[in-house]
Amino acid sequence: MSDHPNNPYYSRTDTTHLKVSDAEWKKILSPEVYNVARNKGTEYAFSGKYYKTDTKGMYYCAVCGNPLFKSDAKFASSCGWPSFFEALGPGSVRYEGDTSHGMRRTEVLCGRCDSHLGHIFDDGPPPTNQRFCMNSIVLEFAPDKK
Ligand code: FE
Repeated sequence: MSDHPNNPYYSRTDTTHLKVSDAEWKKILSPEVYNVARNKGTEYAFSGKYYKTDTKGMYYCAVCGNPLFKSDAKFASSCGWPSFFEALGPGSVRYEGDTSHGMRRTEVLCGRCDSHLGHIFDDGPPPTNQRFCMNSIVLEFAPDKK
């Protein structure tokens, strides 16, 4: 269990929906995490810490600790961001239409803290044919214990 002494909202087990203002998140999060999570920024392709990772474990929301993706759902994508074909469960993430930057996309947000995680596309592998295209910086990986 990683510790987050400056983040009173962080929990890997509490599923209560969080209502925390951006102003408060700004005090808690690093500028890099804040920019993606609360300003819907995107990290540069092939720059994140997890796009090549294939270790077994769980990916949590780096903002609030909500479990988001199992490594079993991760696949090698050429897009340069960590990619998954399914979320952990129905409450793990939520979706919103996004027409920014002249594109029609579906945004993926954390189901617990509403932080921006990335987008979902329908060009993924079976069985879902979906590709959750995520930003590494808003994910926190914990390897399975041996
Ligand atoms: Fe979260």
